[in-house]
Amino acid sequence: MLLELADVVREYRIGGETVRALDRVSLRIATGQFVSVVGPSGAGKSTLLHVLGALDVPSSGSIRFRDKEIGQLDDDGQSQFRRYQVGFVFQFFNLLPTLSAWENVAVPKLLDGKGLRSAKGRALELLELVGLSSRAEHRPSELSGGQMQRVALARALMMDPPLILADEPTGNLDSKTGAAIMELLADIAHDDDHAVVMVTHNGEAAAATDRILTLGDGRITGDETGASRLGAGVPVATVREHP
Ligand code: ADP
Ligand code: MG
Repeated sequence: MLLELADVVREYRIGGETVRALDRVSLRIATGQFVSVVGPSGAGKSTLLHVLGALDVPSSGSIRFRDKEIGQLDDDGQSQFRRYQVGFVFQFFNLLPTLSAWENVAVPKLLDGKGLRSAKGRALELLELVGLSSRAEHRPSELSGGQMQRVALARALMMDPPLILADEPTGNLDSKTGAAIMELLADIAHDDDHAVVMVTHNGEAAAATDRILTLGDGRITGDETGASRLGAGVPVATVREHP
């Protein structure tokens, strides 16, 4: 099992008030799975993604990653975990404006103490994977939204992390470009060494994934796999072909 959460709680205290963003969430995620997380605004989707990626720590409960507890890592442990085990893709791309596409892809190697140049070969391979070879020297301002998101996805893959976390990755894209990003994420998830967890507001995007987790008020209120959705009469394969 890649990830195993048991009774994960995340509380925020604002003044005298306590907000329970995650309320005893228990969940297992295996490699090979493309999981979407849906639910109304404020349901805890981003908080869940943040604790999965060690961007945030739970107030209580356990998060095991390949049988190792990661819920209570110190700062150093958290940044090591983020650097090698997780690739993040956000709605607003978060690319560095003064760097070219390939340099942006190579940035995780820089954080790993390596030179950008030493990572150029791998960065170019990843740009090819996301269909952007011809834009390697372009700056983010010279790319479309969909192209920027593909650069961000290539960057997320630079360290070859087993876990890819995406928060509304298609939120700023038109539906055709969003579908292309979805296909790339599905390919990554289905190569068996990775899992992809994606927060989305888009029902069609969620329907194209293997498993839909629904959050409401910090709790898991639904957990449907492709098979059970097939049983409910939704032909998953058809949805995939016509996103
Ligand atoms: P979603 O992504 O589903 O919209 P979030 O995970 O962002 O929801 O938020 C869940 C709840 O936790 C919300 O009520 C939100 O206001 C609260 N929350 C999230 N982040 C913080 C924070 N840093 N400080 C205080 N409250 C927060
Ligand atoms: Mg959110």
